[in-house]
Amino acid sequence: MQSKELRVNGQRLRESMEHMAKIGATPGGGVQRLALTDEDKQARDLFVRWLNDIELGVTIDEMGNIFGRRPSRNNSLPPVMSGSHMDSQPSGGRFDGILGVMGTLEVLRTLDENQVETERPITIVDWTNEEGARFSPAMVGSGVWAGALEKDWAYSRTDINDNRFEDELIRIGYKGKAACAQWPVYCYYEYHIEQGPILEREQKIIGAPKGIVCLHWYDVYLEGEANQVGPTPMEGRHDALCAAAEMILKVNELPERMHGNLVATVGEIQNHPNSRNIIPDKVHFTVDIRSWDDDHALRAWELLREEFEEIAARRGCPIKTEETWKVQHSPFDEKLVRRILDVADQLGYPNLHMVSGAGHDASYMNQVCPTAMIFVPSIGGRSHVEVENTSWEDCEAGANTLLHAILQSAQEG
Ligand SMILES: [Zn+2]
Repeated sequence: MQSKELRVNGQRLRESMEHMAKIGATPGGGVQRLALTDEDKQARDLFVRWLNDIELGVTIDEMGNIFGRRPSRNNSLPPVMSGSHMDSQPSGGRFDGILGVMGTLEVLRTLDENQVETERPITIVDWTNEEGARFSPAMVGSGVWAGALEKDWAYSRTDINDNRFEDELIRIGYKGKAACAQWPVYCYYEYHIEQGPILEREQKIIGAPKGIVCLHWYDVYLEGEANQVGPTPMEGRHDALCAAAEMILKVNELPERMHGNLVATVGEIQNHPNSRNIIPDKVHFTVDIRSWDDDHALRAWELLREEFEEIAARRGCPIKTEETWKVQHSPFDEKLVRRILDVADQLGYPNLHMVSGAGHDASYMNQVCPTAMIFVPSIGGRSHVEVENTSWEDCEAGANTLLHAILQSAQEG
């Protein structure tokens, strides 16, 4: 067969996805496969078995990143890499992350059964803890590999029950021996659901983002004064939750005050002691700011911080803010982005040049080698929720696009 005519097996891709969706399945049709839990281990074990079935050389590094390498005519050349993540949000969907890993696996199975030889090796990857839902921040596996984050810092991160990242990595048997440090990669593709409404609205099947917005994460800690709610008059209270409430609305209004090109969200809050008859004395909440313009995002945070200080002072609730994570906006390699659009054209899939509002391991990979992503539509634009869905036809179209983008790169000498 001419390699131009090669197509993935859509049914097999669907079966792999459905198999994985059983691991950590939730009653609402989603998955809960938080990083370094027993469910994560089960998914990893199955993935490694599937890599071995097509005789890939499997390597696990000190951060638990899993690589599978398909040899080539010239094994000394840096490989084409493709993959994503298998962990999920607490009530996450069946497509986020896993589609990019299973999609790449399907590409490799297709090459294998058609005995396609490539000039460059191809490496599939599953990055550890992309979501950052159990251990913050997100994208630590790729971040440490790319040299943007410290391994020991990542190891020391704790979950809500004070379990250490490294201990959990050892517990599930995935603290590998290979050094977690970048090695030469020719280029990186990441296939992912869009997680937004644009492709569906525009009636396109394939999206090629020109890059990823910057991501800034902050943690805010407020101190109040606890007291019995009945006998304590309203005047003179130091209610940390009320201070937080005022601040949260400031976050929500921020994009409008900054004239757009920005989204800002408070997604997590802890209130102490969280009792109906005690004035709250400790509140922690998170702030997430994203923009295509890093400076714009920083100015927005500065404005917010001044307002937080004012609210905290007025309400007598001392405030502490922490910058937890910062990833710069990331414009992808134009040649690779163009290639994805061209491949989609050749395969007859309507396509769109767009921007990614979600963070991905591709952000860190983009600091190491030419990088691009392939998006397929999210039904209703919903993601990180149990109803997250993408049609099987679109999953197959994305995998075919990935197949030919990878092939073109892997045949370059
Ligand atoms: Zn993802």
